[in-house]
Amino acid sequence: MAHPKKTPFTLDVVDLIHRPGELRERVIDTTAPEGWGNAVIGVREGEPIHVAARLESLHDGILVSADVSTLAKGECVRCLIDVDLAVEVEIQEVFAYSHDEAFDYEVHETLVDLEPVVRDAVVLSLPFQPVCQDDCTGLCPQCGVRLLDHPGHEHEAPVDPRWSALGPLAELSQDDKEKR
Ligand SMILES: [Zn+2]
Ligand SMILES: [Zn+2]
Repeated sequence: MAHPKKTPFTLDVVDLIHRPGELRERVIDTTAPEGWGNAVIGVREGEPIHVAARLESLHDGILVSADVSTLAKGECVRCLIDVDLAVEVEIQEVFAYSHDEAFDYEVHETLVDLEPVVRDAVVLSLPFQPVCQDDCTGLCPQCGVRLLDHPGHEHEAPVDPRWSALGPLAELSQDDKEKR
């Protein structure tokens, strides 16, 4: 089997393996390796990611708890301006010493790789429909200006539908006059 690859998201737990009760704190400061998210919102490649992790040795593996903070960038789905969204998520996952169906992750040799766990938690926390603010009123359907930037924005009132309904009647009465 190939040796596990060391990345900024891997932590060496050699001093914790099979020492139940031992605790370590580790901090990872790195950047997003690729786009985490979708076209509408995501943590863009190169964005700083901070992971404050606590590792605890258990009988059957290493329990990793961590607070993750980073920044997602996207676009308001209503008014289309750029939106920055602070992302704060917690993860908690057991990395088992040996293959065990009860756990999704394993310790590889002496390494735990937090990347898939952190990525999934971050991506799942992103909103499906990001907005610049909860009460964003979007764009004017007639001219496209951003309504939050133009309070009270309105256009000439359209012709009152009650008046236009009289149109055919008015023409009719004109015809009547001509017949006379
Ligand atoms: Zn908006
Ligand atoms: Zn308008």
